[in-house]
Amino acid sequence: MLIVKKFGGTSLMDAQRIITAARRAVDAAAQGNQVIVVVSAQGHTTDQMVKSAGAITQIPSEREMDAYLASGEQMSAGLMAMAIQSLGQKAVSLTGWQAGLLTDSVHGNARVTGLTNHRIKEELEKGNIVVVTGFQGINAAGDITTLGRGGSDTTAVALAAFLKADICRIYTDVDGVYDKDPRKFSDAVRFEQIGYADMLTLARQGAQVLHDRCVELAMEYGVKIRVLSSFRPGPGTLVSE
Ligand code: ADP
Ligand code: ASP
Ligand code: MG
Repeated sequence: MLIVKKFGGTSLMDAQRIITAARRAVDAAAQGNQVIVVVSAQGHTTDQMVKSAGAITQIPSEREMDAYLASGEQMSAGLMAMAIQSLGQKAVSLTGWQAGLLTDSVHGNARVTGLTNHRIKEELEKGNIVVVTGFQGINAAGDITTLGRGGSDTTAVALAAFLKADICRIYTDVDGVYDKDPRKFSDAVRFEQIGYADMLTLARQGAQVLHDRCVELAMEYGVKIRVLSSFRPGPGTLVSE
């Protein structure tokens, strides 16, 4: 099977969590699967970067903001590849542009339009776990773009769609998709399974657990998503037809 696993910021907060996430990827590879790992920036890195830019200028160039913000994911990807290697498994990290993830030119909220090279496939065939930076791509002019806050989910689903992965697993800090935010409402109920249309409605209403564009892409390409906790075992929620 080809599996895409995406780890969000809280799942990569510190070295221990990165190693835990790396172990999940290595276990999946040891079972004979090809594995792509998509990473977000660690913890609240992106928020801090937005603040740092704000201390320089209130009207940053959108192009430079993207060039800057994309580096948070690049740090995570390097660390994740090192963690996987330290567990004895081959791994390589790729940025959005190295992976060939093409987008339009709307800096700060770019839409994924395609995958322009075969680098990920080639690295998988060499026996690597391929770690790809979430949240970023490259436009036709060769400039770095970002996909909007929370956009690493969309990177994961886009890669799953274009490379025809069997499943896209999204690891986060809650154990699935609920009818409302489980951090705010103690009576929230977890879905075992949810259809694309209902998930899209939840995402558009602001349920942060999945980026709305990742749900749109999943629906268009029929990508099965399983939302899981990074921290505790459980079935999570299947997002599918
Ligand atoms: P990550 O950093 O892993 O991408 P996010 O913070 O983007 O994680 O998304 C997970 C958060 O989404 C949870 O901590 C939860 O508070 C919030 N959330 C909002 N609505 C929902 C919902 N309906 N079901 C699950 N989580 C939700
Ligand atoms: N790091 C980016 C953000 O904080 C992307 C993501 O986490 O999905 O919005
Ligand atoms: Mg998120």
